[in-house]
Amino acid sequence: MSKAAENKARALEFVSRFQAGIPNIIKGEKAFALSGKTFETLNPSDNSVICKVAASDAADIEKAAQAAHAAFPDWRAMPAKKRKTILHRVADLIEEHAEEIALLEVLDTGQTIHFMKSAAIRGAENFRFFADRCESARDGLSLPTEGFLNYTLRQPIGPVGVITPWNTPFMLSTWKIAPALAAGCTVVHKPAEFSPITAQRLHELMHEAGIPAGVVNLVNGFGETAGKALTEHPLIKAVAFVGESATGSLIMAQGAPTLKRVHFELGGKNPVIVFADADLERALDAVVFMIYSLNGERCTSSSRVLVQESIYEDFCAKIAERAKNIKVGDPFDPATEVGPLIHPSHMEKVCSYFDKARADGATIAAGGEALSGEGNFVKATLFTHARTHMRIAQEEIFGPVLSAIPFKDETEALEIANDVAYGLTGYIWTRDVTRTHRLSEALEAGMIWVNSPNVRHLPTPFGGMKASGIGRDGGDYSFDFYMETKNIAIATGEQKITKMGAG
Ligand code: NAD
Repeated sequence: MSKAAENKARALEFVSRFQAGIPNIIKGEKAFALSGKTFETLNPSDNSVICKVAASDAADIEKAAQAAHAAFPDWRAMPAKKRKTILHRVADLIEEHAEEIALLEVLDTGQTIHFMKSAAIRGAENFRFFADRCESARDGLSLPTEGFLNYTLRQPIGPVGVITPWNTPFMLSTWKIAPALAAGCTVVHKPAEFSPITAQRLHELMHEAGIPAGVVNLVNGFGETAGKALTEHPLIKAVAFVGESATGSLIMAQGAPTLKRVHFELGGKNPVIVFADADLERALDAVVFMIYSLNGERCTSSSRVLVQESIYEDFCAKIAERAKNIKVGDPFDPATEVGPLIHPSHMEKVCSYFDKARADGATIAAGGEALSGEGNFVKATLFTHARTHMRIAQEEIFGPVLSAIPFKDETEALEIANDVAYGLTGYIWTRDVTRTHRLSEALEAGMIWVNSPNVRHLPTPFGGMKASGIGRDGGDYSFDFYMETKNIAIATGEQKITKMGAG
């Protein structure tokens, strides 16, 4: 049996326990939606049904929000050392089940095993990182002044809603849930309807690790029903959301009547700027990796490559050569580099840009078509001679599709880079140190990498500007969102008090 066939057989074996479907987990108990409704999750490789999933609505969210509300006082009061031990135990269990999580992720999302084999490990790291911060999460500042000692405390905000997308669901769910739990918040989680399976395993493992019933609750369903109800629920104090910018706007409006605090990690149209003086071999590797890895379904992907005119033709020819060589196919095959896109509707959206590129005057230098046969497979695609006003240079395509735009000098590169609604990441390739600082400051993006692809360091702030998000995650930044900061002022002397009503 080939390794690909063996991987697929193992995935099917792991998923067979969900034959009866994927339920919700509320107050530690598994149950289907109160309405009895379900939907189907599909295998992107052939669009066959993997299993049914609970299609929840406001009634299920009500149950989950009540459970999270009831569990909050005890979880908040639990000694931080004990919370830390439990969160480390979650990380241990994730590591023990790393192979299963990776294979289920491949089956449900179409992401390749090549990249998913580390998905569980990354998820475990998130839990370990925030487990170690349980004890310092509440630390504040001492701000003495004349006649007063001011000090600040941080306190968990309460039950929070976590809403996650379908692209790398396991890693992203841990990324949001681990800091919420470390802060002392309780959680209602609504995973994306296109890929709900690994969230089920994550919640099972969190309970197995000893997280008390009601502290984390899983509610499956569609965004317009379950998601919307979660963002509107008065007991939910904040919503951490990862997904499209348009959905972020909806959530902000839905949360407005209850004054929800929101944290948004949204879309991107990130530039990678390649100057003629760069280490071009390494820049080429990074450009190719940052757009075609994870099927291009990656918020931080460098989906616009801005190349200096003097090297444009040559550099683009090299990208095209690499793109044509990229192995698109069975995501269970360890040699596969790009797997199928999540859903036929998403594939249709991605493929619609091939005609838009032609209509707007760009050249298709590689790919530009779907693979024949079943499944949502699209060839690694490069558009050359793209210009900043074109739709392929402005809109988030979220597939293995790269638009290459020429620029004359640094001024023009900056202008093009900032000429989009988004502002998540920027990548700069040059050997000119002064320019790296100048450009890094001027680029409208929350995160910049210089002479490097995206490498995540957990204490650093993660998040976007403009339409790419609100707020930052990572390290202490996560606690700013999941906690309230309170100031306490103690008079150390006799403060002057104006007497009133004393005659
Ligand atoms: P999406 O916005 O369609 O859905 C995300 C989640 O929101 C899903 O769980 C969905 O059910 C829910 N949802 C939809 N409508 C809702 C509503 N009205 N109220 C409440 N919840 C609702 O996004 P997607 O297509 O699943 O994911 C892809 C998007 O996510 C891309 O734009 C990508 O850039 C973005 N993303 C951003 C980051 C980041 O860190 N910035 C990371 C990963 C993905």
